[in-house]
Amino acid sequence: MRTDYHLHTPLCGHATGAPRDYVLAAQQAGLVEIGFSDHNPMPTQFDDWRMAPDQLPHYLESIRDAQREFPDYRIRLGLECDFIPAFEGHVRYLADQADWDYLIGAVHYITPEWDVDNPKHLKRWTEQPVDEIWQAYFDTYTRMIKSCLFDFLAHPDLVKKFGHRPEGDLSRFYRPMLDAAAEAGAVLEVSTAGLRKDVKEIYPSRDFLVAAHQRHIPIVINSDAHAPGEVAYEFDLAYDLVREVGYTEVMRFEKRKAVPVKIA
Ligand SMILES: [Zn+2]
Ligand SMILES: [Zn+2]
Repeated sequence: MRTDYHLHTPLCGHATGAPRDYVLAAQQAGLVEIGFSDHNPMPTQFDDWRMAPDQLPHYLESIRDAQREFPDYRIRLGLECDFIPAFEGHVRYLADQADWDYLIGAVHYITPEWDVDNPKHLKRWTEQPVDEIWQAYFDTYTRMIKSCLFDFLAHPDLVKKFGHRPEGDLSRFYRPMLDAAAEAGAVLEVSTAGLRKDVKEIYPSRDFLVAAHQRHIPIVINSDAHAPGEVAYEFDLAYDLVREVGYTEVMRFEKRKAVPVKIA
């Protein structure tokens, strides 16, 4: 009874495969339900990895086309929105532009110019202490949680993507964020995308997930697929991990309502 709600489309400029190819891959993988969530447009051309400001109607139409082509298969409509302080109003604007099943919140930008997962900026990791970079990431993530703008929150420790880690116990970074998530009733994503990156580890780490479970924070398991072959990527590993940690449920999303479903 698995789902995958974090799938991209070629509109973002760094994903391949039409929506129908993702649907076919999902059916092949035995998923009962999927959802698309491409990177949100910004008010102006912001960077080179999202749809242009005027392409939102095109995105909505491409998902509607897939829904029409596969009427007996549940295809949800979502959007992965960057949380950038000062653009909260833009997220509220986007929330009104379609009948979304969910909005995903994501932190990529830790300063207005630095998307921390972008290999273009790898040199910056040598110019600043890793501790400071992690702190900036988790501070922004905590602000995102407190904004309550989103239905679930993507790849919680994305900042580890290239394998840079501070010394010692990392719980000092994620504890305040998890406390905020528990208080806000937020849902966290468990993402297998990290297994495809240098860090070769699920987002979030096991310790992080244990701490989330202790706070009863609900989860959703996704692949962040940027190609049809990545749909449900290494889901067996993710389901094993969350079960070992103690989770018995994952969340489903429809019309911006989250519903828990038992893990088989
Ligand atoms: Zn992407
Ligand atoms: Zn994504």
